[in-house]
Amino acid sequence: MSRKRRVAVLGATGTVGQRFISLLAGHPWFEISALTTSERNVGKRYGDVAHWLVPGGVPEAVADVKLEPTRSELDADICFSALPPDAASEAEAALAKAGHHVFSNVKTHRMDDDVPLIIAEVNPEHAKALEVQRRRRGWTGSIVTNGNCSAIGFALAAAPLHKSFGIERVVVTTLQALSGASYPGVASLDALDNVVPFIAEEEEKMEQETKKFLGAWNGQRFVPAEFVFSAHCNRVSVRDGHTDTVSMSLRGSPSVAEVKERMREFRGRPQELALPTAPKRPIIVREERDRPQPLIDRDVEGGMAAVVGRVQEDAVLGIRYVVLTHNTIRGAAGASVLNAELLQAEGCLP
Ligand code: NAP
Repeated sequence: MSRKRRVAVLGATGTVGQRFISLLAGHPWFEISALTTSERNVGKRYGDVAHWLVPGGVPEAVADVKLEPTRSELDADICFSALPPDAASEAEAALAKAGHHVFSNVKTHRMDDDVPLIIAEVNPEHAKALEVQRRRRGWTGSIVTNGNCSAIGFALAAAPLHKSFGIERVVVTTLQALSGASYPGVASLDALDNVVPFIAEEEEKMEQETKKFLGAWNGQRFVPAEFVFSAHCNRVSVRDGHTDTVSMSLRGSPSVAEVKERMREFRGRPQELALPTAPKRPIIVREERDRPQPLIDRDVEGGMAAVVGRVQEDAVLGIRYVVLTHNTIRGAAGASVLNAELLQAEGCLP
């Protein structure tokens, strides 16, 4: 690529905004040209106001950048959105109308009829919906979303099983990290020594978004995948990394060995194209009886892989396993950067 594309991070001071900045620092195709904030920090220096939590400190290239309001005149081709939902509702469509390509982490447009919800390895063909989106809405830009952090982790590991065999029924129980609740998130006195068995809207999002990821684009609309899905979502006292325990029934009742093989051999367009943020192995299957664990496994492949373990026969549904993903990287900023690399490489971002 001869010239780097100019990118903005919307909601740059937050948990996901910081991950975007750390992934984009030194990116071979993209350079940060704008960082946005709510009104209270407009005009301030990024390094002075960001309560930086990512290891390694604020990248030098952004420490002196002056924060801007989120408005459609931003100097950027691509906008990575880590906005709160109310701010995203106002800003993302206006930016797309003004010609920006928005890659959003926010729930606002995920389930829209003409907005692709993409995991780059799983359903890259859903990007074809952008033609309909631009035509219907009269936009020169676009909106592409990535999913809820636990839906991405679950769907990435389940994708090869759905493609090879077909999922019939699933029960998934999540153990979700505190950073998934934004900053400062769950109060320490609620989080420490505790499990909170409720996360607002999470169980619904997991079901709807998983079925959109694993469903089809028929040229006019998204057709959700059909299977029976039940999720229990829990907040646990882990800093980063969502763990899901999964039991599922698959058509043809494949063996444990076949399930592991399909997961291990799974590759997608990001691997074929050797995209800069693509993990070499999107799914890593471990054999140890006590893995994956967030503390040890969340950063493998730069936080972009789903780490699976304990693949076994399940007496009720047939197959069970545990899957771990880094929620702010694979479940948020990293997934979005990979989507932008994919669409850039496929020529979808004029
Ligand atoms: P967060 O830590 O609360 O960060 C959001 C940031 O947006 C805040 O730092 C706020 O800071 C800024 N902001 C507020 N209004 C703004 C505006 N009008 N323009 C620009 N910036 C504005 O939340 P987060 O965890 O990063 O999540 C961001 C979005 O990603 C949410 O919609 C969330 O649901 C989604 N998401 C989060 C995760 C996760 O694991 N955390 C995963 C997937 C998706 P200032 O006031 O300093 O500007």
